[in-house]
Amino acid sequence: MNKNAIVIGAGIVGLATSRALAMRGYKVTVFERNERAVGASIRNFGMIWPIGQATGPMYERAMLSRSIWKTICTEAKIWHDEVGSFHLAYHDDELQVIEEYVAANKQYRDCALLTPAEALAKSPAIKTEGLKGALWSGEEMIIESREAVGQVAQYLADKFGVEFHWNTAISRIEHPKVYSGKTTWEADEIYICSGADFETLYPELFAETKITKCKLQMMRLVSQPDGWRIGPSLCGGLSMIHYPGFQVAPSLPALRKRYEEEYATHLKWGIHVMASQNGNGELTIGDSHEYGLVHDPFDKAFINDLITGYLHTFANFKDWKLLQSWHGILPRMTNGATELIVDIEPGVTIINGLGGNGMTLSLGLCEQTIAARS
Ligand SMILES: Cc1cc2nc3c(=O)[nH]c(=O)nc-3n(C[C@H](O)[C@H](O)[C@H](O)COP(=O)(O)OP(=O)(O)OC[C@H]3O[C@@H](n4cnc5c(N)ncnc54)[C@H](O)[C@@H]3O)c2cc1C
Repeated sequence: MNKNAIVIGAGIVGLATSRALAMRGYKVTVFERNERAVGASIRNFGMIWPIGQATGPMYERAMLSRSIWKTICTEAKIWHDEVGSFHLAYHDDELQVIEEYVAANKQYRDCALLTPAEALAKSPAIKTEGLKGALWSGEEMIIESREAVGQVAQYLADKFGVEFHWNTAISRIEHPKVYSGKTTWEADEIYICSGADFETLYPELFAETKITKCKLQMMRLVSQPDGWRIGPSLCGGLSMIHYPGFQVAPSLPALRKRYEEEYATHLKWGIHVMASQNGNGELTIGDSHEYGLVHDPFDKAFINDLITGYLHTFANFKDWKLLQSWHGILPRMTNGATELIVDIEPGVTIINGLGGNGMTLSLGLCEQTIAARS
């Protein structure tokens, strides 16, 4: 008889776990406390972002995720755009990091250093004044996460018969039972993918786990006129010191040192600036990083100003009108780990702590994790 599994949380980690289990014949039931997922998984840029990952296992995981995203999006007709990405250099030290990145990676990745004219040919949205060169990467993909996450849930229900119980908060687990108040369900295996609410179900574990919460501020600009497209997702130099993928460049510490002097306030608030475009032509821009177990619910206007101010140094959009602003909160390990996987009791596993990379890594991580256990 097929095994059955319960997954708690219908964010991308819960969906990725459900997919990997269902592919292996499990009967999967998902419990989500809200009527739909409204956590980190729908609040992000929707960037599937291999370039941020260091060459080696994490990059391989990102590329595995990307291929699974591609399959799901194609089969379920979910909007996605394989636009690639640009990191733009306006200073010699940024150009040097890009040169070193390309030299170290060109045999492994679809990446190249482009001249300003070559970059402009791919994106009419880049500021060419003072531009010294651009790191082109062809591997990044955009999804519209606020739609895609619900669409992936529907795909899992349609294709594998995954059953979703929305509006059902799980309040206690005693394997093989999960409780929502007094109602119980049972399964052979239980997976907890509860994102930033990591403390409710196993508070003692989380009190001793090296994990914190990070608040990120984001904005969306209106649909650009006349179907105007920016092409690749755009990043400035600050993103090079944010993502581990760039640590391969020997001159990165020198770049970081200059930024520490020139962009001290940006760094204090964890600001690096990226822009992606959805199918309606709207632009998603961000972000900042504030760390702590509790965050005030009020967004800081000056952080949004710093983000848009920096964006103006490398992007020329047609319409900068603000459509929305919001923040998301994600769990992040404080010991350098890239995720948290704990078998808290026999048959009960926690998968969490993917930090700012959950859209890029979850599908690959959960595929690898469940495959290794099957
Ligand atoms: C602003 C922002 C931008 C980001 N940009 C990117 C990006 O571009 N690319 C990228 O790769 N990553 C990005 N990330 C990171 C990525 O979004 C996260 O790593 C990922 O969404 C985490 O997924 P999750 O399933 O763990 O969490 P969530 O999406 O928060 O899902 C957890 C779910 O569990 C449910 N839940 C919790 N407790 C219970 C319970 N007891 N019972 C029932 N349900 C429960 C919650 O309601 C929630 O729906 C970004 C994150 C943020 C916040």
